[in-house]
Amino acid sequence: MIKFLDLKGITELYADELKQAANEVIDSGWYLQGKANERFETHYKEYIGTEHCIGVANGLDALIWIYRAYVEMGVMKPGDEVIVPANTYIASILAITENGLRPVLVEPRKDTLEIDDDLIEQAITSRTRSVLIVHLYGRCAYTEKIGALCKKYNLRLVEDNAQAHGCRYEGKRTGSLGDAAGHSFYPGKNLGAFGDAGAVTTSDEELARTVRALANYGSQKKYVFKYCGRNSRLDEIQAAILDVKLRHLDDDNRSRQQIARYYYENISNPLITMPQRLDDTNNVYHIFPVLCKDRDRLQQYLTDNGVQTLIHYPIPPHKQECYREWNEQSYPITEEIHQEELSIPISQVLTMEEAERIVALLNAFA
Ligand SMILES: *Cc1c(COP(=O)(O)O)cnc(C)c1O
Repeated sequence: MIKFLDLKGITELYADELKQAANEVIDSGWYLQGKANERFETHYKEYIGTEHCIGVANGLDALIWIYRAYVEMGVMKPGDEVIVPANTYIASILAITENGLRPVLVEPRKDTLEIDDDLIEQAITSRTRSVLIVHLYGRCAYTEKIGALCKKYNLRLVEDNAQAHGCRYEGKRTGSLGDAAGHSFYPGKNLGAFGDAGAVTTSDEELARTVRALANYGSQKKYVFKYCGRNSRLDEIQAAILDVKLRHLDDDNRSRQQIARYYYENISNPLITMPQRLDDTNNVYHIFPVLCKDRDRLQQYLTDNGVQTLIHYPIPPHKQECYREWNEQSYPITEEIHQEELSIPISQVLTMEEAERIVALLNAFA
């Protein structure tokens, strides 16, 4: 069986270093807000190219804290609008509604699966305060046009970089392209911890200070509480693990890009389409999506032939019960993508032989 993602294999790549890093924390007797956090935050902000990095408990919290900080700073207030792609993981949208802000869903392009930058300007109103772009599947979603619109209308550009650690846009890393970015280090992400973990990167000093306080009970000084915050800290063991894995991230992404290159050059079945190919620097292939009108049958066929696949995602946010007020709205491109998308295996431990087998099966699908 070819697994969708072999996490055990991924850990085994660097097992000795990882165990040593965890042991150092265990032996240190210091488990929160210590040296491992400091070290990882420093290395990660240098890697991303921002002035600040704040480790937090998970990726959803990272995004929630960015918008909560903007509300606390008076930059946004409840009822203000945030433009966000209609096809994203639910976390991007939860971070907006959690803060009493209003998501304005914008359709993606069918050929990129990323937000359609031609549709953003018409979605801007007098209440719009921010655009949240999502580098979905590891593809850079930023465009010059998005940057220019945010400047023109004075909108905060926030990046959901949960799926794109290491991705670049013209030499800069995603996570440094806008005003702030949320990162998830959920175990299956390109940079994954051994549990939940996340971070905010930004070069806005006030935002950084506010996020750090919010994630630590709202406190900037011990036992003094400026905001009604929460406990959303990154723990020392996860920080130490992430610091090790960060050193290998570029190599790991290169392995993913090599598999992706093979897929792009060899998948030739007209029933199966792939999103427009980007330069390797603009895609770290967190997920390799293919589109097929007969998706469910394709998935069953691959399962029957020993290849595990997943769907990202089966139900779009506007069709979810938690957002029942949007259930009657129509986002046809988003809905089409959700009906056709199938994610085939890709990772730093997937072998070329496995990739060849997957391609042979895809090309034989009738
Ligand atoms: C994984 C993910 C998140 C949330 O990350 P968690 O760490 O699981 O909270 C947010 N946005 C996107 C696009 C994701 O894929």
